[in-house]
Amino acid sequence: MPFSELVLASHNAGKLKELQAMLGDAVRVRSIGEFSSIEPEETGLSFVENAILKARNAARLSGLPALADDSGLAVDFLGGAPGIYSARYADGQGDAANNAKLLQVLKDVPDAQRGAQFVCALALVRHADDPLPILCEGLWHGSILHAPRGEQGFGYDPLFWVAERNCSSAELPAAEKNQLSHRARAMAQLKQRLGI
Ligand code: IMP
Repeated sequence: MPFSELVLASHNAGKLKELQAMLGDAVRVRSIGEFSSIEPEETGLSFVENAILKARNAARLSGLPALADDSGLAVDFLGGAPGIYSARYADGQGDAANNAKLLQVLKDVPDAQRGAQFVCALALVRHADDPLPILCEGLWHGSILHAPRGEQGFGYDPLFWVAERNCSSAELPAAEKNQLSHRARAMAQLKQRLGI
């Protein structure tokens, strides 16, 4: 492992918990909240652009190597929306409102056309101007339910049907989600790249 600690460029407690669990003891993960409460504007048009932008910002603010996760839900019927706008789909009103909006938009869409994927882009920079960020991407295929199910996880988990487990991702125990998810897949690549 090239460094003993890094800063995670996220204020999202759900992500922080999942990423720390996946990284284990190999590296101490600090929250960007220790350094600043201001979040950078996510001006990129793709997950990977936004992940790089957030990682550079966190490295600049903390002086530490920085890891950023940009993730979201891409629904096939909606041409990949809400995509990079997943967190603010219902204009910043939070997870419950985002889920309600998605259900409303897909109200008359039949099961066969409700395919979706969770997407996770990870960017790790050794310093703010790092010309060679480590980039990893993970996808998790599923479909969108007609009503929320389950209490675990965060975000769109209650609406995401995981066919291989016959439940929603909010019904999966955290340890299982952390093995299957988009974030788990991206993190597995990152760990390999870092040799941990
Ligand atoms: P970001 O913080 O800009 O990357 O936005 C991520 C958003 O995507 C979250 O607020 C959730 O709405 C959604 N999201 C990302 N990963 C997950 C997940 O594992 N479960 C459920 N929703 C997720």
